[in-house]
Amino acid sequence: MELYQCIKINDYTWLVAEDIRPDFKNTCAFIIGKKRCALIDTGCGIANIREYVKKLSNLPVVVLTTHVHLDHIGGHPLFDTIYASALEMEKWEGNSDRLKERLNFLKAALEGNGRKYKLIKSNIVRESTFSYHPLADRMIFDLGDIVLEAAMIPGHTEESFVFVERKSGNAFVGDSVNPTPWILDENGKSVEEYGKAVKIFAERFPEIRHLYSGHCIRDIGIQTIQDTLCCVDEIVKGSKDERVNCYAGKAFQHIHGSVSMLYRQSTIRKNS
Ligand SMILES: [Zn+2]
Repeated sequence: MELYQCIKINDYTWLVAEDIRPDFKNTCAFIIGKKRCALIDTGCGIANIREYVKKLSNLPVVVLTTHVHLDHIGGHPLFDTIYASALEMEKWEGNSDRLKERLNFLKAALEGNGRKYKLIKSNIVRESTFSYHPLADRMIFDLGDIVLEAAMIPGHTEESFVFVERKSGNAFVGDSVNPTPWILDENGKSVEEYGKAVKIFAERFPEIRHLYSGHCIRDIGIQTIQDTLCCVDEIVKGSKDERVNCYAGKAFQHIHGSVSMLYRQSTIRKNS
């Protein structure tokens, strides 16, 4: 049973996804420059992703973190050079049992696939801590001929970063701009603030042609940006939405085009 799914999107870029269910992946991007590679996120750490990407390139790897959630940083302890939001890392570094949290998350996501759960349990990265360099908006990562630029889009989490490679028009957006954005109170940002950040991002990178998000293994299409902005607009103006159950409890769901946004009444505006 394969734990990873891997597709090549251009000469030097691969999507490497933890294959949890046919409709649910934890997707990482591996970009190979002339001097070094970047691995954007490391999934839940269901197996040794460091060994996996070594088969694609032997060059040194810098790990870039879209946001500090367990399904994006699980494989981080396998690497030596990591960039992540210091603000989010400070809140993350507690005493709780991070391995148990990842296993519980995976068990729920596997929806009863006991065989795969057993395999993951024996391969999972057991270490949960790692050292990191603070990540900031507009940081540039020169991989040798290939350049990635960090852009902060607070919303899904307090900071949340996306990484853009202007030359190819590829943007690796984590859970920031995606078909199912979760803008929930525990993350500390409002729907309104999120919308402003997405708008600034879209204006800053007119060359973006492809979006690769944290839980799909395909180009989700740049229309996602416009649909996201429409969702925000409609929610802020006051839409009548249904409450649905999600992994984080009950939340309102607003749909526009390809985007289905989850939010809570308390998170529409700042301080409301
Ligand atoms: Zn995620």
